[in-house]
Amino acid sequence: MPKPLIVITGASSGIGAATARLFSAEGHPLLLLARRLERLEALGLPDALCRKVDVTDRAAVEAAVREAEERYGPADLLVNNAGAMLLGRIADQPVDEWERMLDINVKGLLYATRAVLPAMVERGAGTIVNIGSVAGRKTFPNHAAYVGTKFAVHSMSENLREEVAATGVRVVTVAPGAVETELLSHTSDERIKSDYQAWKESAGGALDPDEVAAAIAYAYGRPRNVTVREIVLAATGQEA
Ligand code: NDP
Repeated sequence: MPKPLIVITGASSGIGAATARLFSAEGHPLLLLARRLERLEALGLPDALCRKVDVTDRAAVEAAVREAEERYGPADLLVNNAGAMLLGRIADQPVDEWERMLDINVKGLLYATRAVLPAMVERGAGTIVNIGSVAGRKTFPNHAAYVGTKFAVHSMSENLREEVAATGVRVVTVAPGAVETELLSHTSDERIKSDYQAWKESAGGALDPDEVAAAIAYAYGRPRNVTVREIVLAATGQEA
């Protein structure tokens, strides 16, 4: 029996790439989306349609999902993972950094959800995993705009779960603490970046992205009548 299609946004690095490798090893065909096409292709995964798509481009997200569904059948799992963390203080952070985070982390997540959800509801089956954060549950220094986007992910995710529960579609929030990925590298304030790095090291290091992928696979692998609503995981040494 062929395995169903899995769609992963932000699959070119970090958690998304680890998740793509894991589900590929389980035999799933994949749609992998990110702006760096060469990094998607470098994963070298079989039955993986790689498309250069910016999740803030709703039409491009929709077109890629339709193309993948024509090739591999309906999407059974969407992992809404693409995200940006641009740390800064509200008094002096460049405003375009807030806008980028809101566009990618909030609107991009909604666009990808809309591309798969109506057909899932119609079939009465499907799973959406939204990658939130411990920063979607509590605040951290220099994180104000970022936590705003991640609190939004948590609240939208839980509200969507309620909205579609009776249809058989599952909605899961996976909230990691610090993970060793490229996420921090995009913060423009060097001082904030080095403070965060020092904080990570003082906690004994961050999670391996494979651990987050395993949590996603755990939730997806439960029987269809079980929804793991939320998984929060962090390195043992991370206090906050
Ligand atoms: P990475 O920076 O390694 O990965 C981010 C991914 O998102 C990349 O594949 C990137 O691809 C993609 N992406 C960014 N912007 C866009 C865009 N506009 N369109 C399409 N894809 C985009 O970081 P992580 O793996 O850590 O991040 C993944 C998710 O995990 C994020 O939502 C993040 O908030 C969350 N998270 C991370 C934590 C951590 O400590 N690392 C902790 C808690 C949550 P490309 O640049 O090629 O487009």
